[in-house]
Amino acid sequence: MSAELQIQNITKTFITRQGGVGALDNISLDVMEGEFICLVGPSGCGKSTLLNIAAGLESANSGKILLNGNPIDGPGPERVVVFQEGGLFPWLTVTENVEFGLRERLPKKARREKSLEFLKLVHLDKFEDAYIHELSGGMRQRVAIARALVLEPRILLMDEPFAALDTQTRDLLVEELRGIHDKLKNTILFVTHHVRESVHLGDRVVLFTFRPGRIKQIFPVDIPKPRDPDDPRIGKLIREIVDALHGEVEKALAEELKI
Ligand code: ADP
Ligand code: MG
Repeated sequence: MSAELQIQNITKTFITRQGGVGALDNISLDVMEGEFICLVGPSGCGKSTLLNIAAGLESANSGKILLNGNPIDGPGPERVVVFQEGGLFPWLTVTENVEFGLRERLPKKARREKSLEFLKLVHLDKFEDAYIHELSGGMRQRVAIARALVLEPRILLMDEPFAALDTQTRDLLVEELRGIHDKLKNTILFVTHHVRESVHLGDRVVLFTFRPGRIKQIFPVDIPKPRDPDDPRIGKLIREIVDALHGEVEKALAEELKI
């Protein structure tokens, strides 16, 4: 089976007034169709940059990303990004936000029906007419997820989508996302700071080094889903990843203190 997404030797340096900032150094990763990949690493190691390149919002200095063999050179409907803050339109209702991306694809009635179907999936169908400012943070991220999923993307790019939520809401959404992935089987690249979350969701956890981001280690999570958080294999893997991550975070802190 060949990979759906082939990340090949991606290198990215940003030019700033202080000189070049190496964000990514020679990143290569093959992602299989339907695979759930979690990216973890210290702040500033290029996780968002890699997601943005895969989204076609940013270009690499060298290397390429292929989607089913075709190079990505801009945004496309088969790839959708979910950010930490949903980027929703506050002046539109929940349904209007979800159906927004479908306005050129479907007539009004079909758009409504489809939006409602995806709002049900994130348990928000009772809030279809609410405005975004009336919703809690967790509900907003649910809307953002529904808005991404309604486009039926092959690839979902999620950049710390639950980072702004309280722990309880976050746990709930992590579990919902697992269920959604189980049902829809999109390919997901998911950036997170939470190692526990990555081990709960990921088929593989990819650990980045501190800047410039390189792949330090890939941890396969060969435990059937849904995973029991008390499974000793989960605890063992979390400890392994946290240990490996720790060294990189220390490097990041040392560099920050120098500034
Ligand atoms: P992460 O998401 O892992 O925290 P980022 O991908 O946001 O890391 O950033 C990687 C590095 O590239 C950081 O040092 C960041 O400051 C730098 N960087 C990111 N975007 C830009 C930009 N548009 N211009 C200049 N530097 C940037
Ligand atoms: Mg980031």
